[in-house]
Amino acid sequence: MDEIIKEMERYAEANNVPIIESDSIDFIKKYIKLNDVKKILEIGTAIGYSAIQMATASDDVEITTIERDEKNYREAVKNVNACGLDRRIEIVFNDALDVNLAGFKYDLIFIDAAKGQYIKFFEKFENYLTPSGIIITDNLKFHGLVENKDSIESKNVLGIVNKIEKYIEFLNENEEFTTKFYDIGDGISVSFRKNDANVKNID
Ligand code: SAH
Ligand code: MG
Repeated sequence: MDEIIKEMERYAEANNVPIIESDSIDFIKKYIKLNDVKKILEIGTAIGYSAIQMATASDDVEITTIERDEKNYREAVKNVNACGLDRRIEIVFNDALDVNLAGFKYDLIFIDAAKGQYIKFFEKFENYLTPSGIIITDNLKFHGLVENKDSIESKNVLGIVNKIEKYIEFLNENEEFTTKFYDIGDGISVSFRKNDANVKNID
């Protein structure tokens, strides 16, 4: 298992797949353990790296993860099978905005797909959260560019950074959810319902 994870890290590096940073995945794994998380929904599988890592946090964890890119999807299926985790990680090959998860509820939703669509993902998938569930979002610093907008030359990149800023504003102004931001890895946020009385073991 450790060897497969290392191999995935090498593959990600060689193929420019933006897998989660180690501090961020450690934070999420700790949250899973301390808060007895059982059902996880991930938006953006890539090659299955973060899903496999989350599954190793506890044997009780079951993950549904969504990926729209066929090459990444195939690589993820291969990696999940190699780890013997295919009974606990279900990979859905589709655009997350087209997926229908009727009836399912998740304790943790991890948003890590197209950064320009974060508000859409949040608004769709908050409906799949258990009452005391949380939504974690990755890459809120977008490789440090959110704090260094002046250095951005590409229009596309500036567009994404502007959308991340809008998402942060959306979270700060959200009437149903409270969000805490953490300067960990590439920047992550934790959102939970304002009326949720359950204590969250986060830090
Ligand atoms: N969570 C992974 C990294 C995901 S990278 C890890 O940390 O290991 C982002 C992935 O989201 C890419 O593979 C991309 O193809 C996928 N993606 C982007 N927009 C998507 C969408 N709308 N639906 C499904 N997958 C999407
Ligand atoms: Mg990420």
